[in-house]
Amino acid sequence: MNYTEQLQRIFGFSTFRANQEEIVQAILARRDIFAVMPTGGGKSLCYQLPASMMKGTCLVVSPLISLMKDQVDAANAFGMKAGLLNSTLSTAQQHEVMARLQEGDYDLLYLSPERLALPGFFERLRRAPLSFVAVDEAHCISEWGHDFRPDYLALSSLKQELPGVPITAFTATATQRVQEDIVRRLALNQPLMTRASFDRPNLFYQIQLRDQVNSQIEAVVRAHADEAGIIYRLSRADVEKTAAWLQKRGVKALPYHAGLDKQTRGHNQEAFNRDEVQVVVATVAFGMGIDKSNVRFVIHGDLPKSMEGYYQETGRAGRDGEPALCLLLYSRGDYFRLRPFIDQLPDERERQAGLAQLNRMMALAEQPVCRRRAVLHYFDEEYDRDNCGACDVCVHGVQSVVASTEAQMVMSAIYRSGQRFGAGHIVDIVYGAKTGRISALGHDQLKTYGVGRDRGKRFWRQLIDGMLSQGLLKSEGEPYPMLHITAAGDEVLFGRAEFVTHQMLEDRGTKSEESLYDEQLFTLLKKLRRDMAEKEGVPPYILFSDKSLHQMSSLMPQTPDALLGINGVGQMKLERYGKPFLEIIGNYLTDNPEACPQQATKVTAPSAARKQTSGQTLGETLRLAETGMSVEEMAAERELKPSTIASHIGELLQQGKGLDVGDYVDLAVRSEMAELFRVHGLQRLKPIVDGMEGRAGYEQAHIVRGFLLSQGGKMEEVNDDADSD
Ligand code: ADP
Ligand code: ZN
Repeated sequence: MNYTEQLQRIFGFSTFRANQEEIVQAILARRDIFAVMPTGGGKSLCYQLPASMMKGTCLVVSPLISLMKDQVDAANAFGMKAGLLNSTLSTAQQHEVMARLQEGDYDLLYLSPERLALPGFFERLRRAPLSFVAVDEAHCISEWGHDFRPDYLALSSLKQELPGVPITAFTATATQRVQEDIVRRLALNQPLMTRASFDRPNLFYQIQLRDQVNSQIEAVVRAHADEAGIIYRLSRADVEKTAAWLQKRGVKALPYHAGLDKQTRGHNQEAFNRDEVQVVVATVAFGMGIDKSNVRFVIHGDLPKSMEGYYQETGRAGRDGEPALCLLLYSRGDYFRLRPFIDQLPDERERQAGLAQLNRMMALAEQPVCRRRAVLHYFDEEYDRDNCGACDVCVHGVQSVVASTEAQMVMSAIYRSGQRFGAGHIVDIVYGAKTGRISALGHDQLKTYGVGRDRGKRFWRQLIDGMLSQGLLKSEGEPYPMLHITAAGDEVLFGRAEFVTHQMLEDRGTKSEESLYDEQLFTLLKKLRRDMAEKEGVPPYILFSDKSLHQMSSLMPQTPDALLGINGVGQMKLERYGKPFLEIIGNYLTDNPEACPQQATKVTAPSAARKQTSGQTLGETLRLAETGMSVEEMAAERELKPSTIASHIGELLQQGKGLDVGDYVDLAVRSEMAELFRVHGLQRLKPIVDGMEGRAGYEQAHIVRGFLLSQGGKMEEVNDDADSD
C-alpha cells in the first residue's frame, strides 16, 4: 500500500497539507528531519503516517505527560497501535509496555524526555526494533526558546545512543537561533529542513479598541454559543473577574492561571478539553497543554507582549482547519501596563528587545494594514495578496478621513480643562457625559462640553488614539497619564495643518465565517459525539473533528461509503463510530423533509465519481430551467423534491449561469428576504423562513440565497470552506 492510500485509509484525508508529503517521503527514506510547522499545520500526521507503514516502533518524545494519553487515544482511534511510557504507569504496567516494545508490537510509543535519562534505558531501547524517533515540541531543547525544559537536554545523546535510528524534530517556534540550536543539540545528520508557511488562512484576525471589556467578550461568546473558546487576560485578577462575569451570566466558563493549585488547573483544563465548559479564561500560563482542535475563537482581552505570543496564542484556534475568530481588544493604556514588565528585566539587551516587541504589537493594533500581512511579516514571510479576505482591515476596508475639526474639539477640551486629564475624561467632556467627576469639576460648564454628542464615545476614543499615534498629543504622568498638546497638535489646533485619520469602515459583526451546514443537525451530531466520547473516556474531538461534523451536517451522508467521503473519516473510524452517526443523519432527514443536503462539490470533492453526478444533476436542472419550467414542474419532471430543485436553482444563480431570479421569486419577497439574510447571515435558512412567517418557504430561501451570493462580496465569505483544502 502506498502512503497516499494509507492517508485515506487511516486518516480519511484525500490530500496532504503543505510540506506533509515531503516529510513523509523523507521519513520513509530514513532521513533525519527538522520541520517547522505552525500550530494546527498537521505535525502529528507527519510521523504517524510513516510510523504506521514502517517496521518497528516510532518513539515519540513529548513534553507533557498530561497530553500523552489524549495523543495515544487519538492514534488508537485511527486504528494505530500506540502506547505510552511515563511516570503515571505502575511498575507492572511499565514492564508490560517494555515487553510489547521488544516484540515490536507498537507503531508508536510516546515517552517523556526524562525517561531517556534513566540509567540503562537506552540499553533496552537498542534491543527493541525501532523505526525512528520523533521529537515533538523540539524547541524545548533550546535555552533560547520560550519553553526551555532541562529534561529535553537528555535528547542530546540520542544520536550516539541509538546509532542508525533516524531522528525527526518538529516545532512551531521558528526563530533562526532556536532552529540552529535544535539541529546542533540533536546532532541531526544532514536533515531535511522544511518550513511551512505560517499563514493560517482559516483564522479571522480582528483587533478592536477595548471599552467595556467584559461586555465585548460576552458578545463574542454569545455569538459563538456552544462553541469552544479561550479568553486570555493579562493578570490573574482580570482572569478571575472575567470568568466570574461570564459565569454570572450563565456562560459555562472556568478560570486558569498559575495562582490556582495544580489540581484545579488540571480539572479546569480537562473540563474544557472535553467540551464540558464552553470557555476557559486564562493567563498565558494556559498554553502547551491544549491539544484541542475545535477551539472556535480566541480573545485577547489585553495587548499581548509580543508578536510571537500573539501568534502562538491565536494559533490555538481552529487547528482543525475550520474557520475561527481571533479577536484582540486593546487600549493605548496597555502599553503603560506592559512597560513595567519590560523595565524590570535585568539585562539591557533584553529590555530593548522587549520594548521593540511591544512597539511592534502596538503597531499591529494601530496601523490600518492587513493583520495577516503584518503577522507574517514578523516571521519574515511576504504575503503577496492584496486582500486576505479574513481580517478586519481587509474585509471592512479602511478610509482616510480629514478630521481636523474633530481634533480641534478634542484639543480645545484638553486646553480648557488645563491639560491635566486622561483620555477617558476628555472623551467624557467632548461627548457630554453626565458623570460625578464632570459636575464636581464643573466641566459641564466648558464651552466644548457635549460638542461631540452625535458621534459615540468610541469615535472620540479612537480619534484620540489616532492623535496620539500621530504625535498631536502626548500622554504622560504617573500613575495617571494626562493628555497634553504637542507642537504638532498646535499646528492643527490653529488651522495651519490638517489631521488625517484612518478609520475602519463599519463593522459587520464579529461572527466568524461559517460554511453552509445545517446547524440543527450539527448540534445533534455534536451531542452524540460528546456522549460517545464520555463513554470512551476521551475528548470529543478525538472521535471526529468539527470539520468532519460540519461536512456531515452539510453533505448528510446516508451510507457507510458516503460517510467515508467525509474529511477525517477513515476505515477504522467508520467501523468504530460510523453507525450511530449515520442513524442520527437518517433520522434527521426523515424528521426534516425540508433539510437539504448540499452538493458534494460545494464542500469538498470526496471522489471524482460523485463530483460528476452532482455536476450532471445540476446541468439537467439548468437544461430544464432554460425551457422556462417552474420549480414544481421541474421537480415533477425529474422526480425530485421541489426543495432540491430550488437548491439547484440557487446554486446555478450563484454560479452566474444566466438564470433570472425574478422568474422564481417576486421582488417583494426577495427584498424582504434579503433584509433577513442581512441580519442573520447567509449560513442558515431556518431563521429566514421563520422570519417570513409563512409568506415564503425554503424553496424561495434557497433561491434568494444563491442570488445574493452571486452579487459578489459575500460569496467568498460563505464559500471559503469549499476551496480551503
Ligand atoms: P499540530 O500538531 O501541527 O498543531 P495536528 O497534528 O494536531 O497539528 O493537526 C491539526 C489538525 O489538522 C488535526 O485535526 C488533523 O486531523 C488535521 N489534519 C492534519 N493533516 C491533515 C490533512 N492532510 N488533511 C486534512 N486535515 C488534516
Ligand atoms: Zn487582511
